[in-house]
Amino acid sequence: MIPIDFATASGSSSSSSVWLIVFSVAILVLVGVIFALIIRRHDAKAIVGSRNEASTEKVKAEVILSSIEDGVVMIDSKNTIQVFNNGASRLIGWKKEDAEGLDYHSVLQLIDTKGRAYDQEHEPFARVMSEQKPFRDNQAVIMTKANRQIPIHLIVTPIIDSKNAVNAVVGVFRDVTQERADEEQRADFISTASHEMRTPVAAIEGYLALALNPHVANIDGRARDYLEKAHTSTKHLGQLFQDLLTSAKAEDGRLVNHPQVVEFGALLEQITDSLRFTAEKKGLTVEFLIGSGGNETKTTAAGEKVIRPLYYAQADPDRMREAITNLFDNGVKYTDHGKISVGLTGDDKVIQLYVRDTGAGIAAEDLPHLFQKFYRVDNSTTRSINGTGLGLFISRSIVELSQGRIWVESQLGEGTTFYINLPRLNTQQASNLQTKESKSFSPLTT
Ligand code: ADP
Repeated sequence: MIPIDFATASGSSSSSSVWLIVFSVAILVLVGVIFALIIRRHDAKAIVGSRNEASTEKVKAEVILSSIEDGVVMIDSKNTIQVFNNGASRLIGWKKEDAEGLDYHSVLQLIDTKGRAYDQEHEPFARVMSEQKPFRDNQAVIMTKANRQIPIHLIVTPIIDSKNAVNAVVGVFRDVTQERADEEQRADFISTASHEMRTPVAAIEGYLALALNPHVANIDGRARDYLEKAHTSTKHLGQLFQDLLTSAKAEDGRLVNHPQVVEFGALLEQITDSLRFTAEKKGLTVEFLIGSGGNETKTTAAGEKVIRPLYYAQADPDRMREAITNLFDNGVKYTDHGKISVGLTGDDKVIQLYVRDTGAGIAAEDLPHLFQKFYRVDNSTTRSINGTGLGLFISRSIVELSQGRIWVESQLGEGTTFYINLPRLNTQQASNLQTKESKSFSPLTT
């Protein structure tokens, strides 16, 4: 083979090196163009692929949403409905294309079981937007486009962005007409049956008490023992029927409640005094504390006047007595040694009362269920103690009637504290309300 000498072939070494550079650059450009073409084709494929993927995902999401029986809606932070599925259309009669894009207030009209519209603060969607946590409403009723009322179970969940702001909320709701009707029937049955059974049980209890009264009847020791046992069981049965009746009423809103201005310091002291005996009979001490820094009850130098903070709230005193007695009785029931403390504190917004014991305590896994109907802790300490599992359910219903909150803190083996918070009235508000109350109760003048 003959070697090609570029220098000799072109006749000059400088022009040959220029040609060499031009040739190399051309090769590089060509390679670059080929690469660019390959990459563009690849990108184009990827874009088409991702477009296809996105539209497939969209189709999938739409298929899923439209096949869900429940109503599903998504509302953005400007209150506009962004998603409204077929389930929602079927339930409330709005077409998807009409509802989407509208302010949700005009489409999702919620009312409570008494037919009252929710105020802005308690309206579930607004509440989740501001509180940023999920909310479940078992008692809501929704109005259809044709103004029909449908009881629903509603869950609203916030969608929170990376800056911790609520971007949108998602609501899922289901028609629970049948469940509510069943519940009502069950509650009706329980309330009629317990009402009917309470009367004969009260009569049996009365006759047993008479038989046990030495001024009325002469019985020997053995008969007394049997009758005492029968009397205790009958009292327990009577309490069960009473609790069943009260809880059925609490559930269907028939629990009688006459709220009035109450100074809880005086009420709580009176309740504690009337219950003190049952605790002391069991060897427990009872203490009553007012104010956050311990007992702030003071007596003046003259020894006449008691100075202490006044804790006003609006509640039915008889109902509150029932709730507090329940907590106190539980304290006594589940405590073998130590003391029961009843106390009252508060700030300018709330009054907080508590009942604390040094008893068996409650395991952490039982705490979330404690206020459910019929829930009883099943362990070796509590199994042998009589109870219905309705007391705390009733107490919670009573506290909620007065817009209050009840909760529990406990350490197993160390003791338990039940707290009740109620909205506090300042002295001025209390006196204004008292004036109104006295006017509404005063006899009509002619
Ligand atoms: P019960 O009639 O069974 O006492 P409640 O509804 O009043 O029903 O209480 C539910 C359960 O909570 C009780 O069975 C008991 O296990 C537990 N409990 C309530 N109060 C206390 C307390 N102070 N200490 C320990 N356990 C308690």
